[in-house]
Amino acid sequence: MLKIEGLHANVEGNEILKGLDMTVNPGEVHAIMGPNGAGKSTLGYVLSAREEYEVTAGKVSFKEQDLLELEVDERARAGVFLAFQYPVEIPGVSNMEFLKESVNAVRKERGQEALTAAEFLKRAKEACKQVNLPLDFLKRGVNEGFSGGEKKRNEIMQMIMLEPTLCILDESDSGLDIDALKVVADGVNSQRSDDRSFIVITHYQRLLDFIKPDFVHILADGKIVKSGGPELAKEVEASGYAWLENHEEASA
Ligand code: ADP
Ligand code: MG
Ligand code: MG
Repeated sequence: MLKIEGLHANVEGNEILKGLDMTVNPGEVHAIMGPNGAGKSTLGYVLSAREEYEVTAGKVSFKEQDLLELEVDERARAGVFLAFQYPVEIPGVSNMEFLKESVNAVRKERGQEALTAAEFLKRAKEACKQVNLPLDFLKRGVNEGFSGGEKKRNEIMQMIMLEPTLCILDESDSGLDIDALKVVADGVNSQRSDDRSFIVITHYQRLLDFIKPDFVHILADGKIVKSGGPELAKEVEASGYAWLENHEEASA
């Protein structure tokens, strides 16, 4: 589904990703952990086509397509959900209108009929209920004064509504409370399926108490330095990242 090969990326002229490789198959949940400043969010931003993040080498293919060649909206229509893409505040456009347009654009790309207003509303109500967001929230302007927790709920609600093939989430905000973490975890767990994959970038081991990943990768200094199963997250929880220094000495 997703194949990242030898990915190098610069931010403000500094090389942050230094040859990252990763493969995600359908139905898999991959967690990315690693020390602060390792490049985890940078990876998310590169996959999200954020402007300041410049790919200097490597390939990213999603299904048969070159993901890096696709614009942000093309990535979304191709079935990639990027939780980073908060739309800029668009005066006069409500969350509801924005989401309905996005959902129908994605459906069109898949050859599905557009949702009627009634069907959209029905699904939106269910999704709001699942993330514990009042439906009234959808009537607010896009990005109008959201708290951290509301942003997170809104993001997961969007993920549920868009039915993506690949979801990329970066749980990097230290401000997230346990309820918000659980919303993220419940959202991921409820959407897991044989044909949908997740990359969950996390600065919290705790999130992985609620989401059981199939694979855990440690990203350090711009590369994946270790991959394993869920037990790797437990190891990190117990012993931190001190072993990385030995690893670097060993490989130097
Ligand atoms: P992580 O998410 O693993 O903590 P980041 O990807 O946020 O790490 O950051 C990796 C490195 O890239 C850090 O040294 C950080 O300072 C730098 N960096 C990230 N984004 C920017 C930016 N927009 N401008 C300058 N430096 C950045
Ligand atoms: Mg950081
Ligand atoms: Mg980060």
